[in-house]
Amino acid sequence: MIGVTILGSTGSIGVSTLDVVGRHPDRFRIIALTANRDADGMALQCRRHRPEYAVMANPVAASRLRLLLTGMPKPPEVLAGTEALESVAALPQVDYVMAAIVGAAGLLPTLAAARAGKRVLLANKEALVVAGALLMQAVEDNGARILPIDSEHNAVFQCLPREYQDGRRGLYALGVERILLTASGGPFRDTPLDRLTAVTPEEACAHPNWDMGRKISVDSATMMNKGLELIEACWLFGTDPGRIQILVHPQSVIHSLVQYRDGSLLAQLGNPDMRTPIAHALAWPERADSGVAPLDLLAVGRLDFRPAELDRFPCLDLAYRAATEGGSCPVILNAANEVAVAAFLDRRISFMDIATLVARVLDQIPAEGVDGWEVGQLLDLDRQVRERAEQNLTRSVG
Ligand code: NAD
Ligand code: MG
Repeated sequence: MIGVTILGSTGSIGVSTLDVVGRHPDRFRIIALTANRDADGMALQCRRHRPEYAVMANPVAASRLRLLLTGMPKPPEVLAGTEALESVAALPQVDYVMAAIVGAAGLLPTLAAARAGKRVLLANKEALVVAGALLMQAVEDNGARILPIDSEHNAVFQCLPREYQDGRRGLYALGVERILLTASGGPFRDTPLDRLTAVTPEEACAHPNWDMGRKISVDSATMMNKGLELIEACWLFGTDPGRIQILVHPQSVIHSLVQYRDGSLLAQLGNPDMRTPIAHALAWPERADSGVAPLDLLAVGRLDFRPAELDRFPCLDLAYRAATEGGSCPVILNAANEVAVAAFLDRRISFMDIATLVARVLDQIPAEGVDGWEVGQLLDLDRQVRERAEQNLTRSVG
């Protein structure tokens, strides 16, 4: 039996992971589930999946969970606080860790899983954006392995030869020229530009093809998500932004492609349902049932492609620049974006103010090299950026 910890089990990816794991009770057993505040959701998951541990990052929610679980036969041990997230990611009986916390909050437990040599199923792209070098090094030093869950990166991984997947040869030795990341363009890909300042959080979260958490939904609407994915791809595949093309593909059927030297493009296709990449990463190198229906190409009918418009999506432009400049820029980009998205969801700023705020903070905080930085230094910078972004907010942006 393979022992699994799910970081962020009550979220969109967490729930999909439990769905897939629940289809293979002979193969996987849940060791730990973790969440932030949703004690009610966690209590239901505990009764259904019977983990050994349930962690609530928020201590008040942990107390509530203990109450909710009274009377349950063999209840899980309930732990509270962020350090407990790291401990359950590194338990000896855990083989695989699904990293599905949203934002930089997921960095430390994801890093703990890598340092403990686990198979890390990585959904939490912000962890790589903030600490790509550290995380990749921890994976290498400790015999861990990252399998990408983000649908684009999972698609790219699937389109690469087994020698690459096993870590025996690099991309270029295998004839790869470029990676093509597809993007749906989000809910506002066709909205008149002058309407964008007035769009609401509800409209931004109504993604045409994917059902996701609120933060990544807003990131998809600004296309910051694709920018973060560009940085994620550079770390995961050991490449640079110049070798990655972003392609708007409104149907979200081709999840990404790899271009080879001989002119071949290999693509991975499927219905837009995260259970496919989750099942892939859980079963790799085998295949397992995910509960996702096969793609009906006749029903899809046609596949469209267009370039990403940088004037419509200024966040994508900012991310490109941060990716190219490197150093501390991605940390600044990510932290400022997390503050901006939360402020938009709280109706404190407008949709277009998200990019304005991120750009302003990138201008205000000088970029520096981060070679050799410890995780504490990265998190200090992350905190400073958040403070600066909040100061800008109180002085009002836009
Ligand atoms: P979500 O908001 O639905 O769920 C987030 C989970 O993290 C919840 O369980 C929540 O309790 C927990 N969490 C939030 N803040 C926390 C904190 N401070 N400490 C501890 N736990 C905390 O998010 P999601 O859509 O499932 O996305 C999770 C991650 O996966 C994100 O990084 C996102 O970019 C990535 N991702 C998601 C999708 C998707 O389809 N949802 C696709 C690709 C990548
Ligand atoms: Mg994605």
